[in-house]
Amino acid sequence: MKRREFCRTSLAASVAAAYPFMINAAFAQSNVAAISLDGTEIELEQAAVTELAERMEGALLMQGDMQYNSARMIWNGMWDKYPALIARCANVEDVQHSVTFAAERNLLLAVRGGGHSWPGKSVCDGGLMIDLADMHTVTVDPVKRRAYAQGGALLNGLDMASLQHGLVTTAGVVSHTGVGGFTLGGGFGRLNRKYGLAVDNLVSVQLVTADGKVRTVNAEQHPDLFWAVRGGGGNFGVATQFEYQLHPFDRNVLSGTITWPLEQAREVLNFYAGWYAGLSDDLYVGPAMMTLPEVGSVVAMEVVYAGDPAAGEKELAPLRAIGTPIEDGVKVQDYMVMQTQEDAMLAHGVRSYAKNGMAKVVTPALVNAMVESFVANPNLMFFTHTSGGAVSRVPELATAFPHRNAETMIAVAGVWTDPDMDDELIATAREWFKQLEPFTGGYYSNIDFDGANSGGKNYGPAYPRLSEIKGQYDPGNLFRLNRNILPAS
Ligand SMILES: Cc1cc2nc3c(=O)[nH]c(=O)nc-3n(C[C@H](O)[C@H](O)[C@H](O)COP(=O)(O)OP(=O)(O)OC[C@H]3O[C@@H](n4cnc5c(N)ncnc54)[C@H](O)[C@@H]3O)c2cc1C
Repeated sequence: MKRREFCRTSLAASVAAAYPFMINAAFAQSNVAAISLDGTEIELEQAAVTELAERMEGALLMQGDMQYNSARMIWNGMWDKYPALIARCANVEDVQHSVTFAAERNLLLAVRGGGHSWPGKSVCDGGLMIDLADMHTVTVDPVKRRAYAQGGALLNGLDMASLQHGLVTTAGVVSHTGVGGFTLGGGFGRLNRKYGLAVDNLVSVQLVTADGKVRTVNAEQHPDLFWAVRGGGGNFGVATQFEYQLHPFDRNVLSGTITWPLEQAREVLNFYAGWYAGLSDDLYVGPAMMTLPEVGSVVAMEVVYAGDPAAGEKELAPLRAIGTPIEDGVKVQDYMVMQTQEDAMLAHGVRSYAKNGMAKVVTPALVNAMVESFVANPNLMFFTHTSGGAVSRVPELATAFPHRNAETMIAVAGVWTDPDMDDELIATAREWFKQLEPFTGGYYSNIDFDGANSGGKNYGPAYPRLSEIKGQYDPGNLFRLNRNILPAS
């Protein structure tokens, strides 16, 4: 990935080297080289940078600052970008100052929640990166059954704070993912069939819009924006707080993973294809094909039964009768075992590609395409989210997430550490996707490395209204580092 150097003065650099603990952008000694929204080179006045640093409660970082390098790294190790400034916001006012600073100067702006963006949209070369990592608090009101998560909170924080009160909402499958991007794009998880997507549980959002204003966005206040942020990603502003509906939940759930040898993949996946449509909302299954260290290539099925375990055992019995599993790990256990089991394998810094398609039906021909791709190159993987249930009962355009009638999200993905494998694995994954795409009808915007502005494919029939709302609240497209929606003029 292209690397661009943005130098500060030699005096500041010497001070940074000698006293790294003392440095932040308040020490800027001269103008700072930066990149504008349209990609041209600009200079940020030293006095203005210093003023922003002084106004902020959190730190404003530049190259040479002690925390700069760790702050600019995001989850996908393929992205190696150098923002001109990183605003480590401590509160909503810091976010307002940062947004205003960028808007007034037409400065390229990135917003980082949990940093899990596959296409690296939460960091940029030469712009201002608003980093919400220090705004990660989650509080719960057990009486109202509500969780309040700051914009930089992680799913682990949301799950843990809620479960302490015997409550839960839909969170994704890797606990170091940020609530920010996850929720704004839709939010699949192991409870989505029972409780819907993350956006279906969203009650209210506190949003800093491109004009620097803080808006409370919910069904009564700014209902147009509330519609748009439930699927439209980070296009409409910086979400500084999310309020979620919670549900009573016994964290000891029938859950785990069943794995079969790869040779049984067709049998297992064809069974899934004919089975999932009749499942109860309580039962979530997620088929995958992957290669596990010391086990080899497998077809696997993640299971969570969010109800009475005895009823779950009964509903699961037909799946357990398929083929001869290598391992059946489904048992009554703490929900957080499942919610964290992939955290280490998918740790920060891995290199990764992913792309997905939303499938209305899983046909034998689709199963065949998946199995043939995987057998040819088991260095990559397929994973899925089974939708349906509560997700499909929300009308298509009730929120900006339009894939309500797709029953399964199917992703091709790869995770590796050797940069020399980048080109080959990305090319292979794209080839896999070509085989898969004819069976799908659009993309889930959150799981897509390629990052092209394929608005129609991501947002489907929601796109025209999204574009209108974008034109109203962000006519200059300040928030463009996302699955971008172009403002209607
Ligand atoms: C390992 C892994 C597991 C995943 N599992 C799931 C899953 O189970 N279900 C699922 O649905 N998705 C899943 N995803 C996809 C995930 O939802 C997206 O990658 C999501 O964008 C991550 O959000 P983030 O805040 O961590 O990312 P970031 O990189 O911080 O941001 C992603 C995008 O959202 C914007 N953004 C982030 N926070 C805010 C905010 N507070 N306000 C405004 N804009 C913001 C950013 O500007 C950027 O455009 C997974 C991704 C990874 C890498």
